[in-house]
Amino acid sequence: MSEASEQRIVVVGAGWAGLGATYHLAKQGYDVTLLEATPYPGGLVAGWKTAGGRSVEGGIHGFWYPYSNIFSLVRELGINPFTPFTRSSQYSPAGLEVESPIFQNELRLPTPMGTFLYTQFKRLPLIDRLSALPLLYAVIDFDNSDDAWWRYDFVTARELFKDFGVSARLYKDSFEPMLLVGLFAPGEQCSAAAALGMLYYFILAHQPDFDVVWCRGTVGEMIFKPWVEQIEKTGGRVLTNKRVNDILLDSTGKAKGVVCGDEVFEADAVIFGVSVNGMKKIANGSPKLQNYREFRDLSNLGAIDVLATRLWFDRKVNIRHPSNACFGFDPTTGWTFFDLNMLHDEYRDEPGSVIEADFYHANQLLPLSDEQIVHKVQHDLAVCVPGFREAKVIDSSIIRVPQGVTHFAPGSYQYLLPSITTIENVFMSGDWIVNRHGSWSQEKAYVTGLEAANLVVNYFNRGSQAKIIPIEPDEPHIELARSINQAVRGLGKSLLPDFWLP
Ligand SMILES: Cc1cc2nc3c(=O)[nH]c(=O)nc-3n(C[C@H](O)[C@H](O)[C@H](O)COP(=O)(O)OP(=O)(O)OC[C@H]3O[C@@H](n4cnc5c(N)ncnc54)[C@H](O)[C@@H]3O)c2cc1C
Repeated sequence: MSEASEQRIVVVGAGWAGLGATYHLAKQGYDVTLLEATPYPGGLVAGWKTAGGRSVEGGIHGFWYPYSNIFSLVRELGINPFTPFTRSSQYSPAGLEVESPIFQNELRLPTPMGTFLYTQFKRLPLIDRLSALPLLYAVIDFDNSDDAWWRYDFVTARELFKDFGVSARLYKDSFEPMLLVGLFAPGEQCSAAAALGMLYYFILAHQPDFDVVWCRGTVGEMIFKPWVEQIEKTGGRVLTNKRVNDILLDSTGKAKGVVCGDEVFEADAVIFGVSVNGMKKIANGSPKLQNYREFRDLSNLGAIDVLATRLWFDRKVNIRHPSNACFGFDPTTGWTFFDLNMLHDEYRDEPGSVIEADFYHANQLLPLSDEQIVHKVQHDLAVCVPGFREAKVIDSSIIRVPQGVTHFAPGSYQYLLPSITTIENVFMSGDWIVNRHGSWSQEKAYVTGLEAANLVVNYFNRGSQAKIIPIEPDEPHIELARSINQAVRGLGKSLLPDFWLP
């Protein structure tokens, strides 16, 4: 086997996953080339400047308390991109519904008591909040194992909440908005497994998990720019405007390169770090990959449309908190808005409000003209914060992201890919890849990138493994409840193996 520096690794896609894999392998001395289809690294989190010099990005991205691996990367890079932890509000057409404190500043209680007691519900009656209690059984029962995914993935999140007796109002005012923002889809279109995994990670596992920080500018400028510079200093290459459309295999079935239009990039191993939709396109256009069932099966997976808007107003409108989630405006669309004067250094002294408003599951909004979208955003904003009614929009940016994010639909788990594939030197990464870390979204994408890099290190037996920080363990009472549940489940299985549907 040749030395690490002679082993050529091609990574496809420069989101959190691809950049994570590239950086680690470059540090281990591999000859790494990262190919990105668009002009900017960052993937869904990429940012750029408009012709008028204003910073924009494809949606604002929060970094939650348990994002330990991303926080560790930022420390390693010696950068300081984040705001302090922020409070948030939730609005409906009726007005302010919920205010969240900074949970780590409150006396820490065994989960989920802190979430229950410290969240300030303005309208939701106690009886509705109490109707969530039976759902705790499902939270205990879903332990993110493969077995648990098979048990819960065929059920919709809505059915799960219904079966566990969650009140209609709690579902509509609380759980569904969380699904729309966390999984980009309404409950009837979400896998119950994904819903339980996401809710546990972001909200329920430990009291401070819902605390969040934001970048003090675009993530592209604050994190990806210095990171890519560091990757290049370490010897990695990041090439933009390179859309990969096929893979080359040798006579033994191993990958020997990727095809990018007229160019071929030779490789001793390939890591894909592209979205579901990106991978479907590559697989559909590749006769070689079509020979493999796992890649053909990707056609069973779907993706979801999102819309990211940024509006500049002629005057400052006061908003209680910088980050806000909204529900009840459109039946199957959730949205968030952010006061960028509070979050981004660039807009702190701007005379007028700069607002980012992002819409998830925005299928029906994408065909609207920019003007119609701006009108809708201002109208909906004014329902939440009446000061926006009189303000004038002086500039705007509308970014449509069709089929941008993974749809964790009921029954989709069986088609999601693990990090290893049938092609022994092709590895997968991205926020839709099956792993057992337990994280979601950007943190998961980054962790899967490190995991794919570790598989390459193992494959060539060269270099050191990337250190991956596990999520904080379950609290002792949850751990105890889970082990009792598993014992009872094991007993049931030994009496009547595989009798019922999972
Ligand atoms: C509006 C919005 C808000 C969000 N908010 C949050 C949030 O607050 N917090 C959070 O943690 N997460 C959030 N997310 C989710 C987060 O953006 C993703 O989980 C994460 O960015 C996924 O990273 P990735 O590396 O897996 O994939 P991507 O970011 O999708 O990167 C894939 C890359 O592959 C490239 N590519 C595709 N096809 C090819 C090809 N053929 N050849 C070469 N390159 C290719 C793409 O151009 C892209 O750059 C949000 C997403 C959106 C859209």
